[in-house]
Amino acid sequence: MSDIINLLPENIANQIAAGEVVQRPASVVKELLENSIDAGADKIILSIKDGGINFIQVKDNGAGMSETDARMCWERHATSKIKNAEDLYKINTLGFRGEALASIASVSQVEMKTKKNDQALGTEIKIEAGIVNYHEPTNSSVGTIITVKNLFFNIPARKNFLKSQNIETRHIFDEFYRIALPNPDIEFVFYNNEKEIINLRKTDIKNRIIDILGKNSKGELLQVKEETEIIKITGYVGSPEMAKKHRGEQFFFINGRYIKEPYFNHAIQTAFEGLIPADNFAFYVLFFEINPSKIDVNVHPTKTEVKFEDSKYIYSILLSVVKKAIGKYIISPQLDENSMFKFEASTKPEHELISKFTDFRTKTKFNPFEGDIKQNKKQSFEKLFEGFNTDIIETIKPEREENIKPQTVEKQLFEKEFRYIFDNFFQLKGGYIIASREDELFIINQQSAHERILYERFLKSDSLNRIPIQILLFPRIIEFKHADFELINSLLDEIRQIGFDISPFGNNNFVVNGVPTINDKTNPQLTLEGLIENYRINEQKPDISKKENLALSMSKNTSIKMYDILSNIEIEELLTDLFNCEQPNYLPNGKPVFIKFSNGNILDLLNKKF
Ligand code: ADP
Ligand code: MG
Repeated sequence: MSDIINLLPENIANQIAAGEVVQRPASVVKELLENSIDAGADKIILSIKDGGINFIQVKDNGAGMSETDARMCWERHATSKIKNAEDLYKINTLGFRGEALASIASVSQVEMKTKKNDQALGTEIKIEAGIVNYHEPTNSSVGTIITVKNLFFNIPARKNFLKSQNIETRHIFDEFYRIALPNPDIEFVFYNNEKEIINLRKTDIKNRIIDILGKNSKGELLQVKEETEIIKITGYVGSPEMAKKHRGEQFFFINGRYIKEPYFNHAIQTAFEGLIPADNFAFYVLFFEINPSKIDVNVHPTKTEVKFEDSKYIYSILLSVVKKAIGKYIISPQLDENSMFKFEASTKPEHELISKFTDFRTKTKFNPFEGDIKQNKKQSFEKLFEGFNTDIIETIKPEREENIKPQTVEKQLFEKEFRYIFDNFFQLKGGYIIASREDELFIINQQSAHERILYERFLKSDSLNRIPIQILLFPRIIEFKHADFELINSLLDEIRQIGFDISPFGNNNFVVNGVPTINDKTNPQLTLEGLIENYRINEQKPDISKKENLALSMSKNTSIKMYDILSNIEIEELLTDLFNCEQPNYLPNGKPVFIKFSNGNILDLLNKKF
């Protein structure tokens, strides 16, 4: 048998390595920005076009490269950052594997100009699919400009795998923020399709966080600071009101490197336990400084996972410093800082806990146990529904207009709408409406009912059929973080159809002139923020259209809640609207809106019990 093993040619080996390092345009952005930081730049300009798929450029004023290094840096395992195995234990640069540039060049068309500050002339290089085809002296300023064009042009399968330009742009924003956040002493400018969209001046860390994540409408940034022999932890956590339903605002950086670390995240969630709803995520931007010999950043090619030698110890320090920061914020200074954490939410009646807590509250109106209460209610509702066979649930439709005997117009409307459906109804404290007609009994979840109604209404709205707008007496200007601003901009038509009179108003701001006439208790800012938050969560679902996503997110954010007390008129309206829905029985996610017992079911049930 002849031998069959070959060594792979260099360019194929690089392409394979690129599979790990370069997953999408955002990975290129990450590697280039990190290199600029490692080169000591204090001003970095990122430009992208078309979601970075066709064009990414990073320009820095860092150290630049000599003519030879300008050629060398494109080779695999070419790095200036480590020289021997020992150096692996004292890495204080973001890069060190010497793989990024080689990988990027193997799957794109790259141009680079670079110059060191002691050189008269710089160097220009052009590479296509890993092959250098131009290498000449050039005039350029000190620092490096790298342009990456047509990513994956030579690997169509990878290119097809990329998502829409909008989604790729969003990934780039994520990487950009992760790099700009821990480096407030570097100025960053970001151009998207030739438009300057972000300009981050040099500042301190707190202001960099605010510049990137926006001034939150509620809550405060709480400082965290602790230094032990093993670790220094600095940064900020958001006060409980800043918690969100998605993970977007959680950042750990270890020696300046963004990492995902579920174990430490758990420590923080634990510190917030009982203070935020169980399904919410706390806000935090935290920096760990650790002796590089105590961690191993080599476990993941994109270096977002890190191994720690003392992770249990770090967990407990983290838990205690975060608790301390929250404790200072919520409880007045004379109170024992730790006592709040001794309350056992499950063993005391809710009202007792709340009053105990409110007595001590100082700064905010935040009700620390609100989330739990809602959660408990939700759970008990689900429990209630668990016991019953879903067969019991049937669609009921209101009788149609034609069945109504001719009467006065007023009476006709009234009857058509409701009365003949139910003989009796009342609201049960805790968010359920009990209604009966003849031998049937309905238990209706009021929040779900309203969500169903609004969902159908929003879904049916279009440019001709807009949700009515209530004009605000005073227009509101609302600032969003940049990514949210962009998202709203891309949904502007649809958002107007569902009843917002809203227009862009300069730097990351929108002016809101009118809001949907649905629920006059809603606050435009919280509604829009909640809308965007839910929208992002729903985006994870496959095949969800913009319209459906907006209808889902909007109905969640504007519906009445379980703890809202309703007047009889409001209950009537709710029941009418619900049973005029095309599908009153279920929420879009399949959860029942009500359960119905007929006389037969009730007797069955009673026979089992008595
Ligand atoms: P690594 O960052 O792991 O060393 P890269 O492939 O990203 O590997 O870069 C290779 C080398 O090229 C770096 O070690 C550095 O010496 C040089 N280099 C890359 N980008 C820049 C830049 N923007 N400015 C100066 N030198 C750079
Ligand atoms: Mg690098």
